[in-house]
Amino acid sequence: MSVRVRFAPSPTGFLHIGGLRTALYNYLYARHHGGTFVLRIEDTDQTRYVEGAEEDIIRSLEWAGMTIDEGPNNPGESGPYRQSERKEMYHEYAKQLIDSGMAYYAFDTTEEIDEMRERLKKSGNPSPKYDTITRQSMKNSLTLPKDEVEKRLANGNEYVVRLKVPRRETVKFEDEIRGIVSFDTAGLDDQVLLKSDGMPTYHLANVVDDHTMGITHVIRGEEWLSSAPKHILLYNAFGWEAPTMAHLPLIMSPSGGKLSKRKAESEGIPVNTKDYIKGNYEPEALINFLAYLGWSPGDDSEIHTMDELCELFTLDRVSKGGAVFNHKKLMWYNEHYIRETSVEELLPRVKGLAEEAGFDTKSDEYLRTVVELLHERVSKVDEFVSMGSFFFEYSTDYDEGALKKWKEDSPALVAAYKAKLESLNEDDFVAANLKSALEETVAENEVGFGKVMMPARIATTGQGFGPDLFPALELLGKEEVINRIDLALEKLS
Ligand code: GLU
Repeated sequence: MSVRVRFAPSPTGFLHIGGLRTALYNYLYARHHGGTFVLRIEDTDQTRYVEGAEEDIIRSLEWAGMTIDEGPNNPGESGPYRQSERKEMYHEYAKQLIDSGMAYYAFDTTEEIDEMRERLKKSGNPSPKYDTITRQSMKNSLTLPKDEVEKRLANGNEYVVRLKVPRRETVKFEDEIRGIVSFDTAGLDDQVLLKSDGMPTYHLANVVDDHTMGITHVIRGEEWLSSAPKHILLYNAFGWEAPTMAHLPLIMSPSGGKLSKRKAESEGIPVNTKDYIKGNYEPEALINFLAYLGWSPGDDSEIHTMDELCELFTLDRVSKGGAVFNHKKLMWYNEHYIRETSVEELLPRVKGLAEEAGFDTKSDEYLRTVVELLHERVSKVDEFVSMGSFFFEYSTDYDEGALKKWKEDSPALVAAYKAKLESLNEDDFVAANLKSALEETVAENEVGFGKVMMPARIATTGQGFGPDLFPALELLGKEEVINRIDLALEKLS
């Protein structure tokens, strides 16, 4: 039997980074086994539907390099791939359960259910349920005469369909990550399968779809573990074999606890995939990082391409415990992938970003040197522009941190250096000579190297850090460098 997995997000907002990891583990599992990666949109909750969410999900998966084998935009034979388009099917399957005596119609109003709960609470039941016992005294197709039920259905009276949850049964299944999971049905309500608006609940739709779409492995977040026993009950009620289950560990915030939206924001961690796209992260870095967020190949290797990850990924190496989201580690990956990217490939991207920021990038040759000079220093592609802005524009709004390093003797030392630069002709304005000039200034004034180097850097770049200064000055050119030093001396003397 060939592996079929699905990523089944609800279009209730932008794709969360945790959702992207779930998608990735499904994708890796599918590819590892030469299987199929299905995208199913679980949009039965109309009240939480967010316009554009489906597009965001698909765009995010594509950006991350996950090819969807079957989904709303490229249907296979198990379509439709949006639950809202499968409504009929859920009705048929609910009917099937009713006919086989595994489910029933319930006509009780909310008030009647509340009343039942109140009554039972008073008689000492702390958490009353609509279950094997209470269902016998409620208004449903098990208690009402057959013709009354038919009349109500024909009249269009409101109803829900409930699953007959067996009394005191232990539901057991083997989770690929957690081992045997067992769950007592005693605490369960008779689960609603079809809601009064005719929509299926998550449980019914999820089980019907996984079965009819031929899903062999359900790989999803730990927050769905408590739903799994309900799903197993449903598979049993239908007489279907349940797919293999694997519940992934939670993603934790560095300060402890689940990485919620609020926590992530307060810790400076982008939470939606679109923020990573917009934030110019390398998709390969994010993927490599996410793969290791709850999984490892069992050796000390850390860098792997998507293809290698597909090769290596197995569920038995996924951890049970929560995985801490370490943003520094992500930046480490990002830096690595930037280093691996050729200057050639980086050029058009940096050009685009610089132009977006309103900079004139001069010539391609000029920009290429900027990229070369900064390649070993940036961790994210947009830093070529932020760190390298002085290559395009000079501003006398000096960096505050830098100004702290501008000392009383700085103007005189920078002026002395400038005098040496002025005496060089254009052709000799090259890194090696610029360095010797600085060394001479240092020697003649009997000061440390940094005493001249730092203010020279501040005066010419506006920053207290940056790429190798001498090749940077060579690129800026004599006239520009002298001008900048003049402006700095004027402003900072
Ligand atoms: N629609 C659920 C979600 O939003 C799917 C859970 C599952 O994979 O069963 O994550």
